[in-house]
Amino acid sequence: MYREVKDGKLFFDGVDMTELSKKYGTPLYVYSENDIISRFEDLKKNFVEKYERVRVAYAAKAFFPLAMAKLVDECGMCVDVVSGGELYTAIKAGFPAEKIEFNGNNKSIKELEMAVDYEIGRIIVDSLQELASIEKICKEKGKVAKILFRVTPGVKSDSHDYIVTGKKDSKFGIPLDDEVIMPQIKAAIDSEYIDFYGIHFHVGSQLFDNGSHLQATDIILALVEKIKNNFGYDVKELNVGGGFGVTYVDEHRQPYTYFLDPIMEKIENYYTEKGVKRPNVVIEPGRSIIAEAGLTLYTIGSIKQIPGIRKYVSVDGGMTDNIRPALYEAVYTGVITNKADQPKTETVRICGKCCESGDILIRDIDIAEPEAGDTFAIFSTGAYGYTMASNYNKNTIPGVVFVKDGQDRVVVKAQTYDDMIANEIL
Ligand SMILES: *Cc1c(COP(=O)(O)O)cnc(C)c1O
Repeated sequence: MYREVKDGKLFFDGVDMTELSKKYGTPLYVYSENDIISRFEDLKKNFVEKYERVRVAYAAKAFFPLAMAKLVDECGMCVDVVSGGELYTAIKAGFPAEKIEFNGNNKSIKELEMAVDYEIGRIIVDSLQELASIEKICKEKGKVAKILFRVTPGVKSDSHDYIVTGKKDSKFGIPLDDEVIMPQIKAAIDSEYIDFYGIHFHVGSQLFDNGSHLQATDIILALVEKIKNNFGYDVKELNVGGGFGVTYVDEHRQPYTYFLDPIMEKIENYYTEKGVKRPNVVIEPGRSIIAEAGLTLYTIGSIKQIPGIRKYVSVDGGMTDNIRPALYEAVYTGVITNKADQPKTETVRICGKCCESGDILIRDIDIAEPEAGDTFAIFSTGAYGYTMASNYNKNTIPGVVFVKDGQDRVVVKAQTYDDMIANEIL
């Protein structure tokens, strides 16, 4: 945890957040580099170096400007992209193509061509149609694509419906019905343009219980067995996705080992029993790497007391820089950075400046007496905040600053009005 209070002020990775808000203006996304690095170090120690032939592919969609791509690479990790844009960003940052994996339920032909041209590490195939497209592209270009099939293991995980992805009734993945999946696997094994690596699942996001990962692991091991029995083929890789939960307010974040050790044990036991070498195992954490490493700084503006009801405290951002509360009732906490040690005497609602009643950032929070001009920090906004930002109401997208050991550096410049209308034609 790189947040601390010194002389009544909030510091993050050694940097005074109130001063930073004045230096760059608000809203501002701030990330602690040490926090990000410590998560990767944790995974290195407790996963990558603990087990052989395992990899971590950071899920880019959580947060992925060029500087993050570089940091992920420097930390020795792979990356999981879900669009041509994320792939382009990785390549532009100098990310080794063979360490890039490509997920997504509707990759366009152009995106698949990009993936094949760059010779990326893996394409996670989401449908039979996609397999046919990849095969066609590879045939034309004389290349071979390394693929996994994403399956829907049919497990229910306990999270918000919009971030549950492993159940059968889902737009993601291939259902496990034999008549659907087995012919696809056969086609992939037989194709000279496809190198079939294995099976992928991703059961959901913001999970605190390892039950759905473990259930899904059993289900794909049963599939692995069927593949062996039917086609005599040993699967080379299993990808168990991401979804490991984080602390926004008072959730109890589980250590990575809570998820990964029992998954590995299950897989290793299965293969030991069969007397077969275990395939590679890959995980795809996004949120758990980056959520708590980020916070957002705002300046308090209008303060409104509705008699007998509540006090509304407005900040200079909102659903445009953090859509999660409006999108899936995500909860956050925060503090007035310049009053970080003052008694929290008021219960208020923190709202954004967008023209939507749903533009509420925090429904109820106890804070010190707010005044216009105070800096307000919302914690754990590092994942799916900046990457989901929009120009709604023609608010500009805030910049991103990395802080580390008391130093700060801009890694994404704040959008200007001119940037915002640059592609508009009069
Ligand atoms: C979103 C996603 C992840 C990352 O999920 P987190 O909850 O951020 O860890 C991993 N894999 C796939 C396929 C995803 O879509």
